[in-house]
Amino acid sequence: MELADKITSLKGVGPKKAAALKKINIHTLEDLVNHYPREYQDRRNPRSIASLREGETVLVRGKIILMVPSGFRGRRNLQLLVQDKTGELTVVFFKADYLLNTLKKDEVYEFYGKITEHAGRLQMTHPQFSVFEESSETPGILPVYPLTEGITQNDLRKWTREVLSLLSETEEILPERFLGEKRLCSLSYALRNIHYPEDPQRIREARYRLIFDEFFFLQLGLMAMKGRFQTENEGLSFSPAVKTEEFANALPFSLTGAQNRVISEIEEDMESGRVMNRLVQGDVGSGKTVVAAAAAYKAIKSGYQAAMMVPTEILAAQHMETLSKLFQPLGIRVSCLTGSLSQKEKKGIMEDLAAHRIDFVVGTHALLSETVSFARLGLVITDEQHRFGVKQRGTLQKKGQNPDVLVMTATPIPRTLAVVLYADLDLSAIDELPPGRKPVLTQCFPAAERDKVYSFVDREVSLGRQAYVVAPLIEDSEEIRARSATELYGELADYFKKKKVALLHGAMKQAEKDKVIESFSKGDTQILVSTVVIEVGVNIPNASIMVIENAERFGLASLHQLRGRVRRGAEQSYCCLVSDGKTELSKERLDIMCQTGDGFEIAEKDLLLRGPGEFFGFRQHGLPELKLADPVRHKSILEKAREEALLLLQEDPFLETPENKGLLHGIHRLYGALEELSI
Ligand code: ADP
Ligand code: MG
Repeated sequence: MELADKITSLKGVGPKKAAALKKINIHTLEDLVNHYPREYQDRRNPRSIASLREGETVLVRGKIILMVPSGFRGRRNLQLLVQDKTGELTVVFFKADYLLNTLKKDEVYEFYGKITEHAGRLQMTHPQFSVFEESSETPGILPVYPLTEGITQNDLRKWTREVLSLLSETEEILPERFLGEKRLCSLSYALRNIHYPEDPQRIREARYRLIFDEFFFLQLGLMAMKGRFQTENEGLSFSPAVKTEEFANALPFSLTGAQNRVISEIEEDMESGRVMNRLVQGDVGSGKTVVAAAAAYKAIKSGYQAAMMVPTEILAAQHMETLSKLFQPLGIRVSCLTGSLSQKEKKGIMEDLAAHRIDFVVGTHALLSETVSFARLGLVITDEQHRFGVKQRGTLQKKGQNPDVLVMTATPIPRTLAVVLYADLDLSAIDELPPGRKPVLTQCFPAAERDKVYSFVDREVSLGRQAYVVAPLIEDSEEIRARSATELYGELADYFKKKKVALLHGAMKQAEKDKVIESFSKGDTQILVSTVVIEVGVNIPNASIMVIENAERFGLASLHQLRGRVRRGAEQSYCCLVSDGKTELSKERLDIMCQTGDGFEIAEKDLLLRGPGEFFGFRQHGLPELKLADPVRHKSILEKAREEALLLLQEDPFLETPENKGLLHGIHRLYGALEELSI
């Protein structure tokens, strides 16, 4: 028997059970042994009845001295009195006719269950039980697995026991020396003890090893796939003679210190023969676009093409406008490729890209299409990286020959997490805002005070400013009680009779959206009622008010992004969060928004409030799920695993030595086929 064998090779697993197991992602024996217990039942030593306390889950061994059925035949309840040397305990089963013939008075049983209090007396309800025989082995510490319909606890226990006993020694996948030096237990020890530990200490040892493995392979995989340890000259070297200062001098403003620093980090990467893989993190409004443009300038003036992928058409159009203004005077040919162009337009752009008649292309996912090819792609930029998966970034990169890669994100991820999530990237931070930006004054309002908000909007708009009003839904919904942009638009168009109000949402046709954005951008529209489609990237400096309806319905990251839409100019800007959110959590979150404008601080607090599971969005990033490991709680194991992965790849970049062979298996197990991911 081998770990790679299908789960159906186990006796008792037919098509039905296999289908049920599939739902919890168990396909092979290996998946089964990697399905870890959610908790344990300590069935080693029975507790004396006299010592029991309410709330404990315990094993009790005693004789049934009384059996009292009650209720009607077919759904009779059964009450037992169980006695040991120290006292008596009531054990209750509901609708338990089937037990009347199973349980016998005067016999000794073991009961395992939770102690509750009922009418001043302790009792155990619906415990698991078995006949006690002097000779019988104690079951020890038993695993309690997460289940799915059609699979019982006993099924999983039987199967894991069987697989673990057949696999006498699971092959070790870490290099031998790790076990001694790093004080990690062996994989087979870890697997045996995560399922059937002899004592709680062994659970800890097993967990430590398995958590280490999760972090280690996650990062090793990302790093290895990226090939960042490949030898020199694998990538492009852009000309040191092309100076980004030429580009900077053409800008209408001077760059901030942080922008300059990040640009020189990028330039260094670009001039080196190593493939650049750099993540630029910068809060909303920190000016990431010009940094990306400086990199593109360098690539293009060195004779290459550059591509920038963005998550929405609105953003593509906006970047197209900004960038062509910057680039055209410098003799750089810019174009924009999105899904809503006509076939003919798309074809034209693709031909121009393939023939190098375009130097710089901005586009949406449309850039990933197989029919898009480049003559000489030297630089790939993804903006708002958090909206894309790891794989998508890779797809675009493959359209060139080891082009340099620049990734921009405004999602302020605490550094610990960024290190895991972007294990394959070097990090740069634009940690300074352009001068003169004042913090956005943020305040919460109950829905009843909405009028106050709108009269404020009215005043500001009369002074020449513009406002966004964001709602969580496009249209009214019967299921969700929240405001919709469509309804709100109707209301506001009525309220602001003398102003121009417009509506924007994701379900509108692209041409309509463009028109709406353009009119807002020119200042013809004063109030834009919208959904979160404007969340990312939209940059309209004259807009200085952001009203968010049902603010409790948005995540902190979204709220921060939305608020980022109005800290763009030199004017004082405002954010009004309208909410009747009643839960503590929603209040706490909105308070955080009112207290700080620092994206990193918000992210740290968000992480604490929500826990990493949700925050992290691993799946969303196309990364394997962590089962036991938690980047926050196990930070020190994470750091250790990262160091080890880095060291190992420095010594053996392609994992070729016999000692490291097992590592490839570990990576495969996490990421599936490597080619698919070789990005
Ligand atoms: P983000 O980092 O959120 O993508 P943008 O790149 O859209 O931010 O920049 C926000 C605004 O700040 C733009 O209008 C841009 O022209 C302006 N900007 C960028 N850098 C500077 C600077 N150094 N000085 C003044 N304004 C700047
Ligand atoms: Mg941006």
